[in-house]
Amino acid sequence: MRRKLVAGNWKMHGSLATNAELLAGVKAGVAGLAAEVAVCVPYPYLAQAQQVLAGSPVAWGAQNVSEHAQGAYTGEVSAGMLKDFGCRYVIVGHSERRTYYGETDAIVAAKFEAAQKAGLIPILCVGETLEERERNVTAEVVTRQMQAILERCGVAALAEAVVAYEPVWAIGTGRTATPEQAQEVHAQIRALVAAADAGIASNLRILYGGSMKPANAKELMAQPDIDGGLIGGASLIAADFVAICAAA
Ligand code: PEP
Repeated sequence: MRRKLVAGNWKMHGSLATNAELLAGVKAGVAGLAAEVAVCVPYPYLAQAQQVLAGSPVAWGAQNVSEHAQGAYTGEVSAGMLKDFGCRYVIVGHSERRTYYGETDAIVAAKFEAAQKAGLIPILCVGETLEERERNVTAEVVTRQMQAILERCGVAALAEAVVAYEPVWAIGTGRTATPEQAQEVHAQIRALVAAADAGIASNLRILYGGSMKPANAKELMAQPDIDGGLIGGASLIAADFVAICAAA
């Protein structure tokens, strides 16, 4: 039985003042819920998240990480540094990183490996663009993105990781994949992993991300291969995020 996970991705939003309210609202609102809950905050606010959430059931994490352990990489943040601030999770390969910062499958795989080496759980994002969906190559795209991880890290690495299927056309657009569309890709991802290791595949949590909101969360997460959500916009409103966590 896979425990549902709902992870917030705040992206580049927030301030010390607004975060204080949001973190307190999430912490109070999700107490006692069955699902696991996490928030992935901007780097400068990791200490604040740690201070507010330590000792609570809410985990915290980052949205990106360097593929290098240390060195002359101005502006970068290593997995060990994230670990220093108590992070449990780190998002790798978000489509905004792939699109705006040129992160290739190879770079994402290196980041995934660096995260695990430091004891973090990577949340690996995969998903197709609208153009790729319309060309009917969704399965190929997601397979290629998953294969990059399997080739570099091996299937065993997926025992300590989370995958998030995020169709790029659904992120921040208000256009959600239907439960059937999402389930189809989730099942493909699980089958791909099962071909290498059935046990790891059946324990792997595969989250859906892309305009998940309180109104559609329950139906999406009721699908057999959807094990939770990666939530962007709705994670910035405590009541909405808590409602999604409750739906899980
Ligand atoms: C995301 O950024 O990972 C995401 C799913 O965003 P949104 O929920 O806003 O579509």
